[in-house]
Amino acid sequence: MKIATVLRNDDYSREVERELKEKLLGEDSPYCFVREEGETPDLVLSIGGDGTLLEAVHQYGFEPTYVGIHTGHLGFYADWRPNELDAFVQALKEQTKPFVAEYPTVSCRILTRDGRIIHKWALNELVIRNASLSTLVACVYINGDEFETFRGDGLIVSSPSGSTAYNKAVNGALVHPSIEAIQLSEIASINNQAYRTINSSLVLPKHHEVELIVMNPQIMIGLDREQAVWQDVCSITCRVGVDKVKFARYKRLTFWSRVRNSFITG
Ligand code: NAP
Repeated sequence: MKIATVLRNDDYSREVERELKEKLLGEDSPYCFVREEGETPDLVLSIGGDGTLLEAVHQYGFEPTYVGIHTGHLGFYADWRPNELDAFVQALKEQTKPFVAEYPTVSCRILTRDGRIIHKWALNELVIRNASLSTLVACVYINGDEFETFRGDGLIVSSPSGSTAYNKAVNGALVHPSIEAIQLSEIASINNQAYRTINSSLVLPKHHEVELIVMNPQIMIGLDREQAVWQDVCSITCRVGVDKVKFARYKRLTFWSRVRNSFITG
């Protein structure tokens, strides 16, 4: 089995990687670690936080399976703590066919005013904001029908697993990752006598799409960890992505227990 590691840039994560390699390698070991850039691993170990996992999936894409080892608190994408390395190695050796949880992504088609089409995707979310502090203005269409004109700080289109991230901070709903859906949430919309938005998050099923027609000449687009200022974006169309990110589950840790651990029991 070919394994790759992606690390948070700190000494603790590097130490955990060193320990793991020591436990996994050795005479007659069925494991080897990817050395060359461009090699496709079977399994990617993300050692760090949920942010590190986001980095890993954008580096290696949809082919490998992923396991997260969290060097801070237990995360949404990470199942293991550094003090459980022996149990993880044992599970890896014993369970040749672990349960694989497949998490939906957000697929985005960005159309520029000069007619270019750029395809992007996110595991957590797409965020759009005006590039300056003034209001973002975007017309929202659902399945080709006009829905509303949004004025405010920004819009988030999140996946189910991204629903616990930025989306939660703006009071979006938490969506179980087995539900193939995207969620459109508002960031500080203007709602008064002149302007009106729905002011609730919308959860759209797999066969629906949301189109955001952008009125500002420059906007900021965030896709998971990546963010950039874009000029002359005409529209962004989002739907549930065809590709899913695969997580190898060597132990049972439910989504709702992760929610409870992260937000209630602390
Ligand atoms: P960051 O600003 O350094 O960290 C954002 C926090 O979000 C970290 O604590 C991270 O967990 C956590 N996180 C990431 N994915 C999550 C998920 N699916 N569910 C629950 N929490 C999650 O940024 P980053 O580490 O590069 O992560 C990028 C993410 O930050 C974006 O995708 C966005 O969702 C989130 N973000 C949130 C807000 C907000 O809540 N107001 C604002 C901007 C961005 P770890 O500590 O385990 O890495």
